[in-house]
Amino acid sequence: MADASLMVWIDQDLCTGDGICEEIAPDVFQARDDGLWVVRETAAHWGADVLFDGTQAPDGSQGVARIPDSELEAVVEAAEECPGECIMIEPFDQAIFDKRT
Ligand code: SF4
Repeated sequence: MADASLMVWIDQDLCTGDGICEEIAPDVFQARDDGLWVVRETAAHWGADVLFDGTQAPDGSQGVARIPDSELEAVVEAAEECPGECIMIEPFDQAIFDKRT
């Protein structure tokens, strides 16, 4: 199992739908059917696939995914390149994670 020191979410109200984030970090960002992007956790890193798309799990500020340490550099780059400036990186919060389980 991966370790997480940071978490990430996307403000879909600001997402321009260009997909740059997924190009840079496909293990953490994924397109949704409506052309906006959401965050995800993959089974490869966390033992289960969770898509924070507002259906399987909450989206927006309630849909906060753990970032595997191995993906940190790519996620930071994605946030820097994001034209909507809508990729939000926060410290890992055990309380947020506990609410999901
Ligand atoms: S890079 Fe930012 S604006 Fe572009 S799809 Fe990803 S979250 Fe949306």
